Formats: sequence, C-alpha cells, structure tokens
Amino acid sequence: MRGVVMHAPGDVRVEQRDDPQILEPTDAIIRTAAVCICGSDLWPYRGIEKLNGPAPMGHEYVGVVEQIGDAVKNIKVGDFVVGSFFASDNTCEICQAGYQSRCVHNVIMGSIGTQAELVRIPLADGTLVATPSVPDPSLIPSLLAASDVLGTGWFAAVAAEAGPGKTVAVVGDGAVGLLAILAAKRLGADRIIAMSRHADRQALAREFGATDIVEQRGDEGVAKIKELTDGLGAHSVIEAVGTQESMEQAIRSTRPGGHVGYVGVTYEVELNGLDLFFSGVHLHGGPAPVRRFLPELIRLIWDRKIDPGKVFDLELPLDQAAEGYKAMDERRAIKVLLRV
Ligand SMILES: [Zn+2]
Repeated sequence: MRGVVMHAPGDVRVEQRDDPQILEPTDAIIRTAAVCICGSDLWPYRGIEKLNGPAPMGHEYVGVVEQIGDAVKNIKVGDFVVGSFFASDNTCEICQAGYQSRCVHNVIMGSIGTQAELVRIPLADGTLVATPSVPDPSLIPSLLAASDVLGTGWFAAVAAEAGPGKTVAVVGDGAVGLLAILAAKRLGADRIIAMSRHADRQALAREFGATDIVEQRGDEGVAKIKELTDGLGAHSVIEAVGTQESMEQAIRSTRPGGHVGYVGVTYEVELNGLDLFFSGVHLHGGPAPVRRFLPELIRLIWDRKIDPGKVFDLELPLDQAAEGYKAMDERRAIKVLLRV
C-alpha cells in the first residue's frame, strides 16, 4: 500500500509500505476514504519535535472496514467508520468517565500512521463509530473533521463550559480554534470572540458563529477582551495553539471563576504559579477525548446541522502529501484533505 513517511524535517514522501495485518483479535483493518494533515504534524515537520528515523504520519481517518479480528463484535466488514486519534477500549473506568484519550489501554494512532491506503485500528469496537450507511461523498470532509479537529474543538468548548449566557473567547484561528467557535455556537454561547488576524480565517470564524473579532495579541489582546466584557474577562476561553503566549493570553483573558479549555499541544509552556493562583480560573484540557463526542457529532453531520468540513481549504491526492505539508507550513492552507 502507499503511505506517507516523514524522513526528516521538511522531507515528506509517499512510499510503498507493508499492508497492515490483524495483530490482535480486537483489531480491524480499514481502507481509508480520506485522511488529513494536522497542525501537530507540523511540529516534526518544522524540527520542533524530534524524529527518530523515518516515521509513518497521520492520525485522522475515515474509511471502510475491510477485515476484523475474531473478537470484534460491534463493527462489521463494509461499515463506513470514523475513529479518534487515540484508540481506546471504551470500557475502562477512564473511558466510562468520558476521557477515552487517556484510556488505560490507549494507542496513539500517530504511531501507526493513518495517512495511508490501509490502516490497522486497535481496539476496533471501542475506537470506531459506524455511520448509519455509506455516506454521500459530500459528507466525507465533515466526517473526517470529526476524527480530530471538530472533536477537539468541541471538547475545548465543553471544557471551557461554553453555553447560554456565556461570552466565549477563542485563542487560535487554526482548524481547531475555528471549529471550537462552531461548537460554542452550537452549545448556545451568547457571544463568541475570535482572536485572529487573517481575513480568510476571520470570515470562516464569522460563518461558524463568531460575533466579534479581536486582532490584537498578548497584552493588547487581553486588554481588548477585558474591554469587550466590562473589564471582567470572558466566562469561557478556548486555547487552541499551545504556545507560552497563547496559554498566558487565554488564562489572562478569563474572568475569575471562569473556565479555560486548552487543547493546543503545549511545547515548553511554563505557567507562573502565583499568577495562576490569583487568576482564580478553572483549567481543563489535554488530548481531547474525541470518542466521547463522535456519536453526537456524526449525527449532527449526517443531518446536515453542521458543516465542519469547511475548514478544509485544500484537497490533494495522497500522492501529493508533500505539497499539502508545505501549504500548511507556509499557512497557505488552514487544513489539507488528502484523497486516497
Ligand atoms: Zn479505556
């Protein structure tokens, strides 16, 4: 099969890889319909995250089940499925509490690499959710978004307790930040402030439900949020970047007693304990338990109540994955869909 392999920062190739095999009776093999490139794939691409030799890439996927292990009961050959970027059993105490990305048996799909024609899915019964039938092709981008960016944005909005009566601020205008806006809107937030300085992303933010745009960052950004909220700060702030600046901006934009939902993968972020102490905010985040939300998100997409697939602004065949990485690295694309 063909699959994407990263050899070194900036060096992405589509190569022949061995077809995956059923290794455990709980595994399934899927034939992907579409996969995509994640903002977090850019960490190794930019040399920020260290690569130990050539690595298969990708952790988002939708496709059709080709083969199942003997112990798989809920998923059938021929099902069209969506899964999260963490495989999870969905039965342990952590999963049952709704934190499937921290399942005691979790397998990170990035270690398997889903940017490929075929993918082995561990813990298939717990990980995969089948759609009601084979979807219309127009639904595939949105279903693929549910696999990570929509699920992550949704979790961020839930963690930040976005809802009726709340003002929500969103730090980060990548795919996750934009879909967190969609989630906050869907959850009933009164006012949604998108922090973005890119005209195309601002337009999509407004389409997804943003009521205000703040272009300032850092101290000025915080001051602007305070100005828009009677000097108090937002009730709910979503952090969807993962840098020192964005994390501080999120915490400082939140009113005392408010909630920060943080889902940007943090690299070398250090929080000042005393600042945190006196902020009086709730912090909740981490790798999103996308699996918790998949049934609901698939239903909303299936009924065409939401259209998160709009975050894909570049579509390429799998063979042109290198161009997709380049476009995202240069910020020419918000998010790239790879047709398989
Ligand atoms: Zn579990």
